[in-house]
Formats: sequence, structure tokens, C-alpha cells
Amino acid sequence: MERSTIVRVHEGLHARPATRFVKLAKSFESEVEIIKSGKAASAKSAVKLMLLAVKENDEVTIRTSGADEIEAVEALIGYLENPLSGMVEDAAPAEPQPSAGDTLRDEPSKAQAFAEDIAGALKGVAASEGYAVGAAFPHFPAVIKPESRTLSPAEIEPELQRFAEAVETVQARMNASLASDTLSGNDRGIVAALRDIAADDELRDGVAAEIRGGSDAVSAVIAASSRIAAEFGKVDDPYLNARADDVHSVGRQICLALLGQSDASLEDIPDGAILIADDIGAWDLARAPLKRIGGIVCGQGGATSHIAIIARSHGIPAILGMGARIEQLRDAREVAIDGHRGQAVANPEGKVLADFRSRIEEAAREREALKAFRDSTPRRADGTIIEIAANLGSLEEIEAALDAGAMGVGLFRTELLFMRHMHLPSEDMQAETYSALAKAFAPYPVIVRTLDIGGDKPISGIEFPEEENPFLGWRGIRMCLDRPDIFKPQLRALLRAAVHGNVKVMLPMVADIEEIRRTRALVETCKTELAAENIAFGDFQLGVMIETPAAVLVAPMLAKESAFFSIGTNDLTQYIMAADRLNPTVARLNDVSNAAVMMAIEMTARAGREAGIMVGMCGEAAGRPDLIPEFIRMGLTELSMSPASIQRAKKCVMDLGK
Ligand code: PEP
Ligand code: MG
Repeated sequence: MERSTIVRVHEGLHARPATRFVKLAKSFESEVEIIKSGKAASAKSAVKLMLLAVKENDEVTIRTSGADEIEAVEALIGYLENPLSGMVEDAAPAEPQPSAGDTLRDEPSKAQAFAEDIAGALKGVAASEGYAVGAAFPHFPAVIKPESRTLSPAEIEPELQRFAEAVETVQARMNASLASDTLSGNDRGIVAALRDIAADDELRDGVAAEIRGGSDAVSAVIAASSRIAAEFGKVDDPYLNARADDVHSVGRQICLALLGQSDASLEDIPDGAILIADDIGAWDLARAPLKRIGGIVCGQGGATSHIAIIARSHGIPAILGMGARIEQLRDAREVAIDGHRGQAVANPEGKVLADFRSRIEEAAREREALKAFRDSTPRRADGTIIEIAANLGSLEEIEAALDAGAMGVGLFRTELLFMRHMHLPSEDMQAETYSALAKAFAPYPVIVRTLDIGGDKPISGIEFPEEENPFLGWRGIRMCLDRPDIFKPQLRALLRAAVHGNVKVMLPMVADIEEIRRTRALVETCKTELAAENIAFGDFQLGVMIETPAAVLVAPMLAKESAFFSIGTNDLTQYIMAADRLNPTVARLNDVSNAAVMMAIEMTARAGREAGIMVGMCGEAAGRPDLIPEFIRMGLTELSMSPASIQRAKKCVMDLGK
């Protein structure tokens, strides 16, 4: 039995739709195949189905044979033509509310820094201020070592059995995590897709063939999963390319089960513990139970890496760039960290421990005192309001920003939205997110930064070329202008969100005036399209981030075509000083207070002032009390920072006005 149709599934058959389609196919006894452009695949294998790369509006044929072939064809064609009918979404549980946690950590304050180096302390880069003492929680991925031997014929059946049991273990773990209420809606989707890959015939058959050929199970899983991942990598579809990572991840889990090992999960971190790791992915950290993390010490990373930014925005003291010294903390029972000076002490005792405890208490008192500034509106001596806004990466952070007294959002990093998903977020989903943000802060402005990926922020779903110098490469606005398929949905979503509040938009990594002109033209196209489609939209101010030396030099020209400037000191410092923001060995140069960077900020402020546009700052320097007076003197009227720094910055500006 055969029938053809045009696929109406939005964004095609990948991830969730593929999972649903396979589930539906498996509910029938009949053999079911799906055929596209002469290529057939079993509709009961999500991997095979995804490798067929079926997109919206493709023509496909469903071929069935068996007792229920008519019902199967009808149901599957029905799904392809009208995917929303009859399919029930997996109910996503409410977001978990992590407990406040009895963490011994404080609020940042320069005043309390240890004057001297602490005896016996290990040094790294001071990435997020504050003190903490807590149990060590080492987080190092397990190393997978295959046996790499040829099996004798008698060993093959038991090895197949061992593999089947390992798959069951992995599936059971994934099912347990799906059944628990600790996963957010998005994370459930990710785990469900991984579980389906673990169960997929393509992987099972591939591994079984390797074992029958004499490979041990671990080597067989590595070989089969690498082969499937490579196939996903070859498909001409960025969403499907990202599935390669999922296959690797499932392969890794099965190998660990075979070896009786497991990766430590950040989920298990006890309240107030100090996370010790060589490296942590920004996304892994973003979805970890951050309220429970007392502090972070990491071998990799620098003061403006995204791990540091996440740590600061949650007020978690952090020391990064420890290099090989991190090994010395691996076996510590307890760790004390001084995030002001970047020093960590293993198993602190005596006077050192007592000192840490008294500083933590002192900081808690200061934090209480700063709450008085929560609702104040800081003004310059001449009465001009200085907006103290928040830097955010997700909607989950809104509450903390409002609680801190944020006067709007000066930087909404949209990357996390893109990193979180199995595939690029749709226009609708983005419009919802930006609208929620605008509504939460109205009438204050929210400045949304268009997608800034590349450099240290790659995401799955977009293939980046291998680059010798990714920080000087295809990132930010450069990538967006080359990929209107990604950029336009974001601009359209922002126009739609502008109906709901005071939305402003800024472009990252601008180096050339053409970049803002081309963006403006694209915005106009989006407006015309939205109007033709009868979709409601508003308008937004378009500004640029000043984070390249080129932008500073042409700031007077850029100011004529931008509604505002926002100085991104994290990147500006690395580019002005030619000092990688992630490289701890050049951390000394990577300091915004360096004369060259301060002069660049002053030039930018002057250009903005002369053109009569607002100049703000959203780099991490905006929250530094030692530099705020200088920024105000230069004429900056908006400072955007981690929510944890807002009250101190308000106090600092108000002290100036006295
Ligand atoms: C900056 O570069 O200062 C900035 C705010 O952007 P990001 O840190 O996200 O690169
Ligand atoms: Mg930047």
C-alpha cells in the first residue's frame, strides 16, 4: 500500500516530530517505509528517518505492508499533513524551584579582599568575586578505554548480551530522569530524543555487526556511533548536523554503562559545594542547579569567558584558568575560595578558615545594607538619570534582576536560547521569549542583542568552519548577515515582540558601517513581509555594540546611523590589547582599566555625545565600583551588569551625586 503527500510538519521531520512519527509507525504491526527522492528508510527508526532529512514542503511516499497497512498509511499521512491533530504533547512539568541552599558564599566586595596572598593558596584568574567555603565536588569526565581485542567466536553471544544490557541500563536511567520532575520542558525533549537514539535499530544493528565481526562491545559502540554521527554531519541541514553530538553522547553513555562507570552529574551537586572541574560547557553550567553551587574552580577559562559571566550573574564566586593546578584540588575534602584575588585553598583550617568565615559574614552584612538602594533612581550631579540595568541570558533570570532593582535590561544575550535547544529556536518561540522579557520590564527598555555566536560560543545547529583564529573569524553580525535564514526569524521575532514593550536591538561585533546598513535593510524587508502576512509588529531602535577597535575609530560615523551605543568591554579589551579573553597567561593585559582601553571608551563616549545618542556599557566593567565614577565622568548614562552587582552600582553612582 503506497500513498504520497506533501509534508506540512513545521521545520521538517527532525527531533520531536521524528520521535512522534516513529512512535506512531511503531504502533502498527505492518512494515512501514518512508521514501523521499527515491531513497527509502524504515519509518520505525528515528535515526534512519532523520538521515533522510525530510523538510517541510518535501514530497514523500509512505509504503506499508502487513495486516494493518491501510490504517498505518492513513495515520502516518494524516500526521504528515496535519501534525498537530491527534498528537498529545508530552506534558512538561513546571520548572523546578531549587532550594535556596545553605551556601556559605557572599556578595562581591572589593573592600574585603585579603590584602596579602593566602599562604599555600593555589592561584588562578579571579573570575567572579566573593568568598566561599564548601565541600569539594570534583567534576571530571570519565575516560573511556576500550579493550581493543578480537573476540573469540564463543565470546560473541555473551558480548551481544552485555551490549543489550548496557542499552537497557542507559534507557532506564533516561526514563528515570524523564519520570522525575527535575527536568524543564526543553530538557525533557533532549533526554527523550537521546533515549530514542539509544533504542534505535540503526545503532543496535551497527553495534551488533561490529561485535559479530569480533570487536569488543565498547569498541563496537564507538565505531557504530561514530559512523552514524559522521552521516549526520554530512547531511545538508544544520539541525540534523547537530544530531551528530547526540549520537556521540548516547554512544558515550552506553560505553560508560559497559565499563560500569558514570560521568559525575552536576545535578548531584550538594548545597554549597565548590565545583572543581577542568572545563565546563557554558550550557552545562547554565542548566545546572546554580542556586546550590557555592563556588567554582576551573582549569580553563578567563575572567570574561561565559562561565565567568554565568557565575557572576548568579553571584557565585569563581576562579578560572587554574591550568594543571586544578589537579591539586581534585582530592580535596573542602575548598575555600577567594574570588576577589583568584585564590583557592584545599582543606582550609585554623586562622585561614576563621578568616574566610568572618569575611563571608561581613559580606552578608554588606549585602543587607545594600538592599536599601534597590528602588533608588541614581542621578548624575546635573540630574540626568543613570540607568542601572541587568545583563541576562534567559527568562529564568528575570526575577533575580527585578529583585535587585534593575532599571531594564542592557544586554539580553540570545545565544543561550540557541544553545539550549536541539535545533534552532523557531521565530514563534523567539517572539514569545522576547515578548515575555519586554513585558516583565516595561516601561524600562530591554536591549536584545542579536545572535552572537562563534569565537568561544559555538552552538549545535550551525556548522562553523574550522578557523585558525575564531575570535577574528566568522562570528556575531558577520555570521548573521551571511545566514539570513537564521537572522531574519530573529529580527521578525523582535519586531513582533516590540508590540509588548520597549524593545531595543543591538548588533554585536560591528566593525564596518555596512553591517548596520545591511541589517537595517533586512529589518525593512522583515516589516514588509510581516505586514503582507498580517502579523502584528512594532518598531525598535537599532544600536551597535562597540567592541572592536574599528568600531571605536569610526564611532563618529556609526553614531550618525545608530540609535545608541553599548560598549562591550569584554571583547573591546581583548581586541584593543590583543590579549585573548580566555587565555589566563595574558590575563594581566586583559584588563579594562588599561589606559588604551579607557581611551577607547572615552573616544566612543565623545562620539556618542556629539551625535546626541545614548552611550551605555554592557561589558563586565560596567559593574566595577572603581571604574564607575570614570564612566559617569565620560558621559555614559546606562550601565548594564550582572544582577548581583546592581545595588552596589546604584550606591556608587548616588555617592557621586552627593
Ligand atoms: C562584551 O564583549 O563586552 C559583551 C558584553 O559581550 P560578550 O561578553 O557576550 O561577548
Ligand atoms: Mg562581546
